[in-house]
Amino acid sequence: MFNKILIANRGEIAVRVIKTCRRLGIATVVVYSDADADSLAVEMADEAVHIGAAPAAQSYLVADKIIAACKQTGAQAVHPGFGFLSEKAEFAQRCADEGIVFIGPNPGAISAMGDKIESKKFAAAAGVSCVPGHIGEIADTAEALTVSETIGYPVMIKASAGGGGKGIRVAWSRQDVEEGFPAVRAEAAGAFGDDRIFIEKFIESPRHIEIQVLGDKHGNVVHLFERECSIQRRNQKVIEEAPSPLLDPETRAAMGAQAVALAKAVNYDSAGTVEFVAGQDRSFYFLEMNTRLQVEHPVTELITGLDLVEQMIRSAAGEKLAFGQDDLAINGWAIESRIYAEDPYRKFLPSIGRLVRYAPPAEGEKGAYTVRNDAGVREGDEISMYYDPMISKLCTWAPTRIEAVQGMARALEDFHIEGPGHNVPFLAAVMDQDRFVAGELATSYIKDEFPDGFSGTEPTAFQADLLTAVGCAMQRIQAQRLGRARSDWTVVVGHGKQRVHLSGEGSSLTVDLLDEGRSLQLTDIAWRPGLPTFRGVLDGTAFTAEVAPAPEGFVIRHRAAKARVLVLTARSAELHDKLPAKAPADTSKLVLSPMPGLVVSMDVAVGQTVREGEVVCVLEAMKMQNILRAERDAVVKTVNARPGDPVAADQVLVEFG
Ligand code: ADP
Ligand code: ADP
Ligand code: MG
Repeated sequence: MFNKILIANRGEIAVRVIKTCRRLGIATVVVYSDADADSLAVEMADEAVHIGAAPAAQSYLVADKIIAACKQTGAQAVHPGFGFLSEKAEFAQRCADEGIVFIGPNPGAISAMGDKIESKKFAAAAGVSCVPGHIGEIADTAEALTVSETIGYPVMIKASAGGGGKGIRVAWSRQDVEEGFPAVRAEAAGAFGDDRIFIEKFIESPRHIEIQVLGDKHGNVVHLFERECSIQRRNQKVIEEAPSPLLDPETRAAMGAQAVALAKAVNYDSAGTVEFVAGQDRSFYFLEMNTRLQVEHPVTELITGLDLVEQMIRSAAGEKLAFGQDDLAINGWAIESRIYAEDPYRKFLPSIGRLVRYAPPAEGEKGAYTVRNDAGVREGDEISMYYDPMISKLCTWAPTRIEAVQGMARALEDFHIEGPGHNVPFLAAVMDQDRFVAGELATSYIKDEFPDGFSGTEPTAFQADLLTAVGCAMQRIQAQRLGRARSDWTVVVGHGKQRVHLSGEGSSLTVDLLDEGRSLQLTDIAWRPGLPTFRGVLDGTAFTAEVAPAPEGFVIRHRAAKARVLVLTARSAELHDKLPAKAPADTSKLVLSPMPGLVVSMDVAVGQTVREGEVVCVLEAMKMQNILRAERDAVVKTVNARPGDPVAADQVLVEFG
């Protein structure tokens, strides 16, 4: 076994690997860029080596610097995490040449599977069912059209070197191929330095189901069952679970057997994932193999009790797998929510900035469910524009799926983040949807359920009561401090208005809803002025709400329902009615920056006439390019940003006359 391991990664996954090494008594070294000098991973590791500037191309992607750091610290092995160098066969080979153990599969397996075209050829030969399509490189748009017509629309145009949901486009028609083929090719050349493209059938409304495999250097390979990752935006996963609600034991066994066959065909000797798309009828087709630890590996750990990082380390050190397929079984159900610094209210665009507040739910057993939170950040840390905007991975485990879903909904209530925009309310909305609860998943889920984007949910009957009760409790606690506790109020929630009578002592409150003739019991109140979360039990149900002061009242959010709540005297309620409604500001003549980022190009000039749909400017953040287009025909009045300028969210970039 190794004495010292170097982790060639950052953030959450670096912390994750350190935790296992500590448990195994292995010393750790992390490498870090300028942006990560004060990171949690650097704080936790036994040693840390600075390897360069913030952009990954100058630090985490530079093999020479990683190898030098191993030599300098005497690390015997490298864990690459995911992303960065994890799927670069040349890096794995380079480690071997330098006498350093790469904690991952052998270079041959990486190169066989690292490329989508090559891996499909391998998979077809190993008897794995593949998506119908053209397994080969496409030369030009003319060939792309011929191939697409042979396969039949819709088709998917894909970069062979693609990953992370980039370099993929669906084409429904000739025109889509004519536009899409050159676009994907250009994107692939830019993002992966490799413009080889292939085309396969687009399976409509499929599910993403993947099999975790694990091998050793002695020819043994087992599978650790499946994960379903159908909840995606931009072809990237947001919510994953294990097992899949779709699979029956026969399909699971068939997929597992194919995944193991493919792994054996390439002498796979570490943890890896064989991804499939599956039809609602449980037909399934191979997509690609990821030759690394997967972001969503914790759900597999939660249902199998295995530590996948430990297993990778043991295999890399030459140990045999300590179990066979028959020793493995699924225990319970696990769900993972990726907490991202992205704004669900603005098309999930990345959001960056300092974590002014970062308070995750406590980990461990919570009665019916267990909470695990894998994070690489602390309060006060910065989510930077240089890397993936993931803040943490929140998992719940329970004996049954419904308990795991309900546990996740509760755990999300207790996740409090301030600073960058984040997707916690969105994740909470999904957990509360009947369709999600029923397990009727598809990769189109987010598009199907949020066709106009996400704007929060209407309060349920319980949430409407909660908003009223919490508003009253906060008002009363504040008033008591000032020695002015009154009992009769009018509560305004959105457009609704009701008269209430409050009574109670200490941490209990009774709210009589005078117009409806019923009462709410709020007990176990835990809140004091200034606290951003309000905990309590309403009519027997425990909850946490996010609260903030607002003019004349409060803004209260429970899960995805958010409202302004005013607690007024009868007299001010009357005055409130007479206030004119404020018209929203007119922004139709402005092009606003939808996110913080850098201006890549400004495509218009003052005085220019633009047509609807024409490109106004291009912004970049977190390696995502965002093209801003004119929403109508107009004449440019002012231009307020130039290429290279950093811009804030909502900053005015261009004004039309
Ligand atoms: P998973 O299937 O485990 O979710 P993803 O495909 O989303 O994996 O990628 C995991 C991580 O690796 C993400 O941080 C993603 O941005 C990064 N990544 C994946 N493929 C590439 C690639 N070809 N180039 C750069 N980064 C990549
Ligand atoms: P990446 O390397 O970016 O992870 P994948 O090939 O795994 O690329 O595809 C990413 C996602 O795109 C899948 O999870 C699935 O949702 C969707 N997808 C990929 N190929 C197809 C296909 N042929 N039909 C339908 N959806 C697909
Ligand atoms: Mg994939």
